[in-house]
Amino acid sequence: MSQPSSIFDVFKQLKLKTTPHRIEILKILRTASQPIPADDIYAELRKINHNISLSTVYRTLETLSENSLVNKIGIENDNRTLYEPVADSHHHFLICLGCGKIIKIDECPLPENLEKSLEDQNNFKIVSHKLEHYGYCAKCQKLTNDDLKNKLHN
Ligand SMILES: [Zn+2]
Ligand SMILES: [Zn+2]
Repeated sequence: MSQPSSIFDVFKQLKLKTTPHRIEILKILRTASQPIPADDIYAELRKINHNISLSTVYRTLETLSENSLVNKIGIENDNRTLYEPVADSHHHFLICLGCGKIIKIDECPLPENLEKSLEDQNNFKIVSHKLEHYGYCAKCQKLTNDDLKNKLHN
């Protein structure tokens, strides 16, 4: 993976119009240490006095994701969608089903030859993949089944 290029270069390459909303949202995602939900992006924008509505945040994220600038991460058993910038280096996530905690893993757990053989078998050119592991974090492993059931249903 190459170094993340400047936001303006990226937009130029994609022939995508640079709007203040797009720039600010991408900046926020690039400075965040982990994937964040649209609500957090909205809160950040309001903090810097950026005049924007939550629905515009969603619309802008949609545009950025259609142009492969932003990855959407859906979480099972949870209505949240998290967003991360695609320019980040390749990584995967461990997602806790108990508390929603997300741990970033930098190494790719897929064996190197897997994509190659999938390509050969299906006559398909793979350009990327997404992979999330679901389970329970150290804290949630200590909870009883009842505790977890309550958490999931709240
Ligand atoms: Zn947890
Ligand atoms: Zn990978």
